[in-house]
Amino acid sequence: MTESFHLDAVPIRLESCGKTFPGGSRALEPLDLTIRGGETIVFLGPSGCGKTTTLRIIAGLESPDPGGRVWFGEEDVTALPIERRNVGMVFQSYALFPNMSVAENVAYGLKVRRVARAERARRVGEMLELMHLGVFAGRRIDQLSGGQRQRVALARALVVRPRVLLLDEPLTALDAKLRDSLRLEIDRLLRGLGITAVYVTHDQGEAMALGDRIVVMAKGRVAQVGTPRDVYHHPADGFVADFVGTMNRVGGTVLDGALRLGRGVFPWSGPDGPVELLVRPEDIALADDDGADAHLDGRVVAAVFLGDRTRLVVETGDGPPLTVDTGGRSALARGDRVGLRLDPARLLGPPPG
Ligand code: ATP
Repeated sequence: MTESFHLDAVPIRLESCGKTFPGGSRALEPLDLTIRGGETIVFLGPSGCGKTTTLRIIAGLESPDPGGRVWFGEEDVTALPIERRNVGMVFQSYALFPNMSVAENVAYGLKVRRVARAERARRVGEMLELMHLGVFAGRRIDQLSGGQRQRVALARALVVRPRVLLLDEPLTALDAKLRDSLRLEIDRLLRGLGITAVYVTHDQGEAMALGDRIVVMAKGRVAQVGTPRDVYHHPADGFVADFVGTMNRVGGTVLDGALRLGRGVFPWSGPDGPVELLVRPEDIALADDDGADAHLDGRVVAAVFLGDRTRLVVETGDGPPLTVDTGGRSALARGDRVGLRLDPARLLGPPPG
């Protein structure tokens, strides 16, 4: 369905792009990053970490500090304003013209570019089709749902065939269910079009689902760049470990190549002494009912049924409570005693820093 509509995949290179705002506030430490042609890269981080600033530098809405350069392929676009970079943008607020129809909104960018009427109609039709908006062509924007509006915003951004698509928290204003379905739609669209896309979000689920790679940011600097799996399973530091998904911390002791953790003893390389290890909720297993094979004993202080799984919070009497994910059919409830098992292959050693 998208075969006829494929966009050029231009790589983007940021070279030493920092940003200091007037008054001296440093929003972004100098950043070097290459985004591959056709790649979807997601900037993920808490509020104020500099992700929107980075997006705006790529868009041409902000200039980097002196010395910074932005490249689209072989072209240095640092000095080009947004209207000459040929980027498409989608924001959290749809920024559509409320008094125009869906088709008129989508056609707007083509009109500004003086695309001839017949060609305009053809491209608007093609784009409405692609976004499953054909039946709404004549509707006014204020007669659409939030999800439909955001699809119009996407259509409007893409109809001009931008070199790069930039999305700044496009799903944040929508309710959870719509967010999920539109996220799938955006995923389908980006893969089908093969366009280079930069996506900003503070939602780690969105980042994992959409990103070919994720750039995790903290306080104006890059904490890690990697595939969703890299970032999830091999967090570069404690910040990434905690920000992406849920992470438990368990304390153990290393002595002569063995790690003692509760009642467990595992082969372990690393210096002797106390050690803090990280483990994901799904990597902690329940012991047999009699608890004979348990490494840790605890008591369930909360059990949250989530449909596909049950999330337990277990106090072990040693360190902070552990979050443990079990199958959805687990019947454990608050107050139950429970034995936990750890797999040494799933324990992450202390992150650097
Ligand atoms: P959010 O998710 O809240 O938008 P963000 O990660 O996108 O956060 P940025 O908008 O990039 O963060 O802002 C990074 C830092 O730069 C913040 O501390 C912010 O207050 C500051 N900042 C952003 N724009 C300006 C500006 N025009 N003038 C001064 N400071 C700014």
